[in-house]
Amino acid sequence: MEFKFLMPTEIYFGEDVVLKNKEVFSLIGSKALIVTGRNSSKKNGSYGDVKQALSQIGVEYVLFDEVEENPSLETIEKGSDIGKRNHVDFVIGIGGGSPMDAGKAIAVFIKNPEIKKENIFSAGKLESIPVVAVPTTSGTGSEVTPYSIVTSHKEKTKKNLGQSIFPRIAFIDYKYTYDLPYDITVNTALDAFSHLVEGYLNTNSTYMSDIYGEKGFELFKYCFKKIISKDLNREFRKKVMLASVLGGIQIAQNGTSLPHGMGYPLTYFKGLPHGLANGVLTIEYLKSFKEHTKMERMLNILGLSHLRELEAIFNKVIDVNIDINADEINKYAHSFFSNKNKLKNHPEELRFEDIVHIYSKSLLKN
Ligand code: NAP
Ligand code: FE
Repeated sequence: MEFKFLMPTEIYFGEDVVLKNKEVFSLIGSKALIVTGRNSSKKNGSYGDVKQALSQIGVEYVLFDEVEENPSLETIEKGSDIGKRNHVDFVIGIGGGSPMDAGKAIAVFIKNPEIKKENIFSAGKLESIPVVAVPTTSGTGSEVTPYSIVTSHKEKTKKNLGQSIFPRIAFIDYKYTYDLPYDITVNTALDAFSHLVEGYLNTNSTYMSDIYGEKGFELFKYCFKKIISKDLNREFRKKVMLASVLGGIQIAQNGTSLPHGMGYPLTYFKGLPHGLANGVLTIEYLKSFKEHTKMERMLNILGLSHLRELEAIFNKVIDVNIDINADEINKYAHSFFSNKNKLKNHPEELRFEDIVHIYSKSLLKN
C-alpha cells in the first residue's frame, strides 16, 4: 500500500467556532481583506461574527463585497487592487465557493503584484498571502481544497487558477446555513455529493481518501432522505456540512473527474449552478462504468441496492430544462475531451462518443 495524504488546513468545526477561536486571527496577520458576495454573509451572521472577532482582538480589516457567482478574473483583479492599496497581510473569504475561491485567487495576486490576469495561467507556481475560509454553503469544500475555480471570459470557460492555495484556517460553522434556501441547499449538496463520488471512483483514490468518501456516503444516506422530505433541520445542516468537508478533503487529494469537467460549459453557457451542472450528469456518468465493485460499495453505504434507486432520488430532486442541441453537445464534448487532466482521473478508458452519450442522455429530453 502506498499513498500521499495532505491536509495542511487547520480545521475548526462546530457552532460559534469563529468567536470561540478569535485569537487565531492575530496569529495570521494584522490587517485582513474580507472577501464576500454581495448580500448573504451580512444576513447569515458569518460576516458579523468575523467582524466582531477581529474588533475584539484588534485586527484591522477592509471589506470587498462584490464577488459574483462563478467569480471572474476581472472581479478578482479588482479585489486584489483594493487589498494591495490597503496593505493587507491576509485574506478572509466568507461565503459559498465563489467568495472563498475569489479570496484564494486574490491572495495570490496580492503576493505577486507583477502578475496580471492576462498571464496568471502561464505564470508557473506562485505563493499567496495566508487565507482564512468561512463557508456558508455546504457544497464546494473550498475551505479545505487547494483549488480556486475562476471564470475566464477571455477563454469563455471556468477553470482552476492552477495554483495550490490551501486555506491556512477553515472556520466551519453550519449555523450560517440554517436559512439557506431549498434550491441552493440542493444544488450545493449535489456538489458535495459529486465530490465524494468523483473522488471515490477516481484513478488517484487511496485507502486514506476512501475513508473520507465512505464516511461522506454514510452522511448522505441521511441527507438524501431529508432533502426529499424537505425537512432541512439542524441535524441535516450539520451532517451535510460535514459531508461537504469530507468531500473537499477527498478531492484535495484526488481531484474531480467527468461531471466537474463536463459541467463547466453548462454553467458558463447555460447558466446552470455548479452543483446542479454536476448533478444532472452524475447518473449517466455512473452508468458508463464497466467495473462496478466500488460503485456497489458506495450504493450499499448509501443504503441502496441498485443504481436505479439513486437515479430515482436524483429524479426527485433535480429538474433541469435547458435549451441545448446536439451541435452544442458536440462542441462541449470536444472541449472536454481535450482536457486530459480530468480524463486521467477517470479510472476507465473513454471514447469521445461516450462523452457525447453522457451529455445527450442527461440533457436531451427525447
Ligand atoms: P456561490 O456561488 O458561492 O453562492 C451561490 C448563492 O448562494 C449566492 O447568491 C450567495 O449569495 C448565496 N448564499 C451563500 N451562502 C448563503 C447562505 N448561508 N444563505 C443564503 N444564501 C447564501 O455558490 P457555491 O455553490 O457555494 O459555490 C460555487 C462556486 O464554487 C463555483 O464557482 C464552483 O466552481 C466553485 N467550486 C470550488 C471548489 C473548490 O474546491 N475550490 C469545489 C467545487 C466548486 P451572495 O452572493 O449574496 O453571498
Ligand atoms: Fe464542485
